[in-house]
Amino acid sequence: SMATVYNTLKMLVTYNLVIELDNGDGATHYDYFGRPHFHVVCDSCAKITDVFDEHFADLAKSLGTITRDQTGYLVTRTDVEVHGLCPDCQAKLGLAR
Ligand SMILES: [Zn+2]
Repeated sequence: SMATVYNTLKMLVTYNLVIELDNGDGATHYDYFGRPHFHVVCDSCAKITDVFDEHFADLAKSLGTITRDQTGYLVTRTDVEVHGLCPDCQAKLGLAR
C-alpha cells in the first residue's frame, strides 16, 4: 500500500539512505543517496538534476567537519545545491551558446 511505501521512505530518510527534496511543487520528492552526488537546481523552472563527482563524498565530509568545529552541531547529512539556469531555460531566454 502507499502507507507502507511512505513509512519505508520515512525510515530510509531517518537513516540518511534517501533524502527528501522540496521541488517547490507541493509534492515531496525522494532521492536515493547510495551514490555520492549533489544537486543543481534551475532557478527558472525548479528542475533538479543530479551531479556525480568522485570527490563529492570527501567534500561533504570536510563540510561536515568544518560545520562541527565552528558551530558544535552534530552533523547528520550534507545536502549541497548548486543553482543556475538549465539548458532548456537558457535556450528559452536566448542565452544558449
Ligand atoms: Zn530550467
